[in-house]
Amino acid sequence: MDAHEFKEAATATIDDIIAYFETLPARDVVSRVEPGYLRKLLPSSAPQEGEAWPAIQRDVEAKIMPGITHWSHPGFHAFFPCATSYPSILGELYSAALSGACFNWICSPAVTELETVVLDWLAQMLGLPPCFLSTGPTAGGGVIQGSASEAVLTAMVAARDKYLRETVPAHLEGDAREDAVMVKRSKMVALATTLTHSSAKKAALILGCRFRAIKVREEDGYALTKVGLTAALDECRAQGLEPFFLAVTLGTTDVCSVDDFAGVAEALDEHAPAGQPGEVWVHVDAAYAGAALVCPEVQESTRIELISRFHSFDMNMHKWLLVNFDASCFFVRDREWLVQALSVNQAVYGNKASDGGLVTDYREWQIPLGRRFRSLKIWFVLRSYGVKGLQEYIRRTIKMGEEFAEALRVRSDLFEIVTGPSFALTVFRLAAKSESASLEERNALTRNLYEKVNATGKIWLTSTELDGRFAIRLMTGVRTTEGEHIQTAVKTLVEVAEEVMRG
Ligand code: PLP
Repeated sequence: MDAHEFKEAATATIDDIIAYFETLPARDVVSRVEPGYLRKLLPSSAPQEGEAWPAIQRDVEAKIMPGITHWSHPGFHAFFPCATSYPSILGELYSAALSGACFNWICSPAVTELETVVLDWLAQMLGLPPCFLSTGPTAGGGVIQGSASEAVLTAMVAARDKYLRETVPAHLEGDAREDAVMVKRSKMVALATTLTHSSAKKAALILGCRFRAIKVREEDGYALTKVGLTAALDECRAQGLEPFFLAVTLGTTDVCSVDDFAGVAEALDEHAPAGQPGEVWVHVDAAYAGAALVCPEVQESTRIELISRFHSFDMNMHKWLLVNFDASCFFVRDREWLVQALSVNQAVYGNKASDGGLVTDYREWQIPLGRRFRSLKIWFVLRSYGVKGLQEYIRRTIKMGEEFAEALRVRSDLFEIVTGPSFALTVFRLAAKSESASLEERNALTRNLYEKVNATGKIWLTSTELDGRFAIRLMTGVRTTEGEHIQTAVKTLVEVAEEVMRG
């Protein structure tokens, strides 16, 4: 493809993308293809001769689109959003053109420096304590990771390294040190809660370390409390285990609950005070709801300043902040914790700037070596929308969540809200048909409602299970969703619920 052909192809592609967004509401939200559909439509091997762009582009609509589930559809109320926006798409275009494996500063100074700048902007916008800024008092800073799962794994690696450094006697060397480290590692345990995202457990699995999930209860709003954490710490101690890591959540996946940061800090201070050797590393997983911190009222209600006591924080701009996948923004209070755990030198990567210690080499803050120019799309989104534009969008989607929950309350003969609305997420189930209805009956009816509504193709919902109760989640955070789409969702739910209730 030469420059002229690229121009024609790119223009046609952009036209196609615009048409896609404009016609999106007319499509079914979820793909209806059968497993293996695509192999039947494609040749069994790659073409020997190159093809012209129009033929390739035609196949996007004919062969790919049927297998796409539309995450930007206004009726997409499942999981959490996975955003995109025009400025973000433009960022990806430039990033693809400037392709490189920018692991060291010298590999493209702008890639590293823009990332540091925009993550400082973001930390300020979210109201994170200054210790998480690269210019802050504790030499912290942010780095873009591929996902929240990668971020929690990175945090756990750094936490393990810090804990071992602080607790294995410094005078031990060689084999004696290796033995002492292995004995210590066998006792170390990572903690989370029963509503923490599965990525924390997966990180522990990958690292081969023990993992305990502390039960969170409905009466505590499904949040980790001081009492719950203290009991778990005591139990670990009684079993000879040493907690070194705790994942707390701002906006759990199932119900968007927020752990009690003040209570967590108090419990930990009674166990191993902050700043003492062997303190527990606390990672704040704000993958989805962290985006809402762009609004000062959310910073206030979550008391985000309290996380200055904790060690790392992660949020995905690619969920609810209009940047497309991947843009997981991971912040640490002291960047040396990452560098000490993840810096492995190899002669081929040496250069004057790195060796002089003058620059940031993000390969030392992450698991992979190579990295893309991801900060560009963040920069474009922040500049195109501005802080005010993003606040407006978040507030609008939260308000739609409140309107949806209100519509359910009005029909309390049909629906019971289980949690929320919280950060644009409402969790609900079908109301009891009679006072004697059993849990199994209610679960079966709610599941029936859920499956019938999804089968309409108009909207897509996901479900969860809370203390044995099957419940439906409805999220209103997608950029294209407007009030009229919420009305469609309510109307669909009411019609199907009436039918299910009639039996
Ligand atoms: N943490 C929370 C609270 C989530 O809701 C999710 C996914 O929805 C994750 C972590 C994992 O996100 P990722 O796909 O970026 O690994």
